[in-house]
Amino acid sequence: MSSKEVSEDHEDWDVDISAEMSSSLDRFHRFITDPTKCKTILALVGAGLSAASGLPTFRGSGGYWRKYNSIDLATPDAFYSNPGLVWQFYAHRRHMALNAEPNDGHNALAKLSHVKGINFLTISQNVDGLSQRGGQDPQTLLEFHGSLFELQCTEFSCSYVEKNNFEDPLTGSLDLQNFGSKNHPLPSLEIDQLPHCPRCRKGLLRPGVLWFGESLPLQAVDKADEFIVRNGVDLILVIGTSRTIWPAASYVDIVKNQGGKIAIFNTERDELESSEDCNSWQFIGDCAKTLPLALAPLIK
Ligand SMILES: [Zn+2]
Repeated sequence: MSSKEVSEDHEDWDVDISAEMSSSLDRFHRFITDPTKCKTILALVGAGLSAASGLPTFRGSGGYWRKYNSIDLATPDAFYSNPGLVWQFYAHRRHMALNAEPNDGHNALAKLSHVKGINFLTISQNVDGLSQRGGQDPQTLLEFHGSLFELQCTEFSCSYVEKNNFEDPLTGSLDLQNFGSKNHPLPSLEIDQLPHCPRCRKGLLRPGVLWFGESLPLQAVDKADEFIVRNGVDLILVIGTSRTIWPAASYVDIVKNQGGKIAIFNTERDELESSEDCNSWQFIGDCAKTLPLALAPLIK
């Protein structure tokens, strides 16, 4: 596709495009549609992508949960000292995620995952399952922080893991619909009211998410490293996350050192990439709008 055709196509999209963004888009489209230059794309996805689906970040879980901090709710210690409270928090987050819908940004990445001739991998820091529900090829998705919809047995001698459990509520005692307001505080739950392992029958199940103080899943990190080394990344998309936060920061550096280019999709300008040069782009705005626009020539 020529850049002229791409430019004319902008008129069909229902998004305000400044002249600056239009020229930036043309340059981006020329790059991603040149198969000699752009064969391998790595996407780093953070909470900003799901914010566009109305999902709050961990800190913004709101309402009843505002009085707790991450140490109370998202650490192994919190789980062992008050598994009922931690399960109630995750039951709430599962419910919120299941009531959100994948947005056009998720859908654009899902389409990209099925484009022939492009090596594509997404490293997601989100646990909400929206990329998967948006139809992304699971082979192209690494969930570095786990998933709200995975359950793991905590019994040392048991390795039971259940993926893609979308039941809501997970158990009768975790049905929180009528609780959590001022007049209806959450009930205290006994251990036997919480989900237990169907295999060993004694272990308590926990959410398969990465808690503060835990290590990234080695298998996923290895897969990401292998992808980067084997293919050499031509373009890294940093979506809804700050590129200064680990591990995004380290992947950006690796790709830059390989000679790859970077495109940032965020609501705020990244000052580290102060001005656009021929190796970088910044698309400022709602990723649910900017991503489909930017990827349009590949995913149409
Ligand atoms: Zn078990």
